Amino acid sequence: MSVVEVPAGSPFGPENLPYGVFSVAGGRRRVGVRLGDSVIDLAVLLEDEVFAAPSLNPFLTQGPERWAQVRERITALVARDVPGPAVRPVRDVTLHLPFEVADYVDFYASEHHASNLGRLFRPDAEPLMPNWKHLPVGYHGRAGTVVVSGTEIVRPCGQRKAPDEAAPSFGPSRRLDIEAELGFVVGVGSELGGRVGVDEFARHVFGAVLVNDWSARDIQAWEYVPLGPHLGKSFATSVSPWVVPLAALEAARVPLPGQDPQPLEYLRGGEDWGLDVEFVVEWNGEEVSRPPYREMYWSPAQMLAHMTVNGASARTGDLFASGTISGPGRRQRGAFIELTWGGREPVVVKGEERTFLLDGDEVTLSATAPGPDGSRIGFGEVTGRITPAR
Ligand code: CA
Repeated sequence: MSVVEVPAGSPFGPENLPYGVFSVAGGRRRVGVRLGDSVIDLAVLLEDEVFAAPSLNPFLTQGPERWAQVRERITALVARDVPGPAVRPVRDVTLHLPFEVADYVDFYASEHHASNLGRLFRPDAEPLMPNWKHLPVGYHGRAGTVVVSGTEIVRPCGQRKAPDEAAPSFGPSRRLDIEAELGFVVGVGSELGGRVGVDEFARHVFGAVLVNDWSARDIQAWEYVPLGPHLGKSFATSVSPWVVPLAALEAARVPLPGQDPQPLEYLRGGEDWGLDVEFVVEWNGEEVSRPPYREMYWSPAQMLAHMTVNGASARTGDLFASGTISGPGRRQRGAFIELTWGGREPVVVKGEERTFLLDGDEVTLSATAPGPDGSRIGFGEVTGRITPAR
């Protein structure tokens, strides 16, 4: 038995305890929580087979009362001695996709991002479409290409047509970009034909991950009218290996910046689910942006209510992401198309002027949020490197 050392100021203190799936030396995948620089093997610590599963899904289906009990039990146990075989240094483990992704939906909840993209994609029209302030706009993404942090991203090929070109051509994307987002993981699903109320969010959603929604802007711009994003997005979406439970985000909850006009009844609720999560975007190791999640117009509770209001069911493992997080400042933009204003205003990265991603580039998103008693909760990071088109 030993006490797990937590370095002073660690974003993975006992008030966080995010869940992930790990393996050691090619062994079986199992569920653990992160504490300091260690991973605690929950099947060993709690002697519970649900954590010997290769994904979080069996635990997620057990529901909010059980999530709370388990968190309380882990908190009590790690404050005392933990059996040695349950503790692994995080540097010695391989981290995997933490949950089996059921459906993947991506929203578009930042007014700053939607306005910037509107100006860039439709320069002669109103930046926001007429529906934007009435519903959280979203589209269905490709669940099967959600990958864990560290997975290499192959530059996608597709049809590209610049506004000054007469006809489309086929080839590798020339405008490959990122989107810094926060993703929400559904634990308890809902019934087909029913709906999840805006105040039932925490009964269904287990926690949050960092998301990089890689985007090929040239493919997207040519294909997206009238049915929305398709191949410009579906080639890969990266997520962080740690799922931060909603229970760890209590101190991060803030009111939304304000909604005008007031949304329809089914999108109104009494609970604040704005979140004060501060992102950092690093391009080849250099910080280029700090997108603030607290600026988001729509809350994740409204996203889930909207996603199910037509009777569509939610399932364990559903992932829905916020859409690019952008604040009002230039260095608060969560996509390079905004940061470089369509490629016309390059940023300097490691001494070079840059616009979109080149082969070999690496992008890392990280984020923290306020925890209890002045602490900071860390989400860890989601990173990916671009490899040449095939
Ligand atoms: Ca997106």
